[in-house]
Amino acid sequence: MLSYQHAYHAGNAADLHKHALLATAMDYLTRKDKPLTYIETHAGRGLYQLDGPEAVRTGEAQAGILRAQTEGWLAPDHPLLSALAETRARHGASAYPGSPLIAGHFLRPGDRAFLAELHPAEHAALTRIAGFATIRHEDGLQMAQAICPPTPRRGLLLIDPSFEIKTDYAELPRQIAHLTRKWNVGIIALWYPVLTDPRHLPMTETLRSAHPGALISEIRFPPARPGHSMIGSGMFVSNPPWGLTDEAARIEKIFQTQT
Ligand code: SAM
Repeated sequence: MLSYQHAYHAGNAADLHKHALLATAMDYLTRKDKPLTYIETHAGRGLYQLDGPEAVRTGEAQAGILRAQTEGWLAPDHPLLSALAETRARHGASAYPGSPLIAGHFLRPGDRAFLAELHPAEHAALTRIAGFATIRHEDGLQMAQAICPPTPRRGLLLIDPSFEIKTDYAELPRQIAHLTRKWNVGIIALWYPVLTDPRHLPMTETLRSAHPGALISEIRFPPARPGHSMIGSGMFVSNPPWGLTDEAARIEKIFQTQT
């Protein structure tokens, strides 16, 4: 039973953290004249409207992309702003790109993309806007395990689960260990929530000791609603590309100093 819908959370502080790092990595990877593969296990619908009823109901984008734009958290030439500008030019002034459209903004002819989304309505919406990719209506980690190592071999895999299943926290390090063994040059990124209870900590400790060269970036922010258990956002990235650690540190600092 899939109940999570990203439309309520699009553009929030966690999206800003995840999408700024994704755009930075894709920008760097696509500067080299060599093809790559982009894979995403939990793609969502790919396109959101920040003036739509779901986003307006939670108002979460106010603490994320909207605040970033007002307060200049992203330089004018930041890769996330270039993906945002393309999305708004095509889909209207309140549009916000999900991770598939952010990655798609950087892909070139010759690059390949594979996206998985299990929710029927989200999958149907994704197929309408992500014509650049092969889109699967299946379990994303099963798809990733079947594709990896991909051709082209350079590339990035984003795992962005909704963590509705408690066993995700134990299962993800096993899945990532298997993927990195098969695809040692791949960049594997995992987003996770930082919670008031320590549920995510054994997962990050396992990832940290199994992948000593990986980037682990965490930011903290006030809960979206009183009593909400998510108080931050985390990104694990194996084989972090050049510049990503600096960008992560820059974003972490913004959230350390924000009021
Ligand atoms: N990555 C998206 C972005 O940043 O724009 C947001 C994705 S959202 C956090 C997680 C998505 O995963 C939801 O749309 C949900 O329907 C989907 N999902 C849940 N379980 C899945 C599974 N086993 N395989 C593929 N998709 C799944």
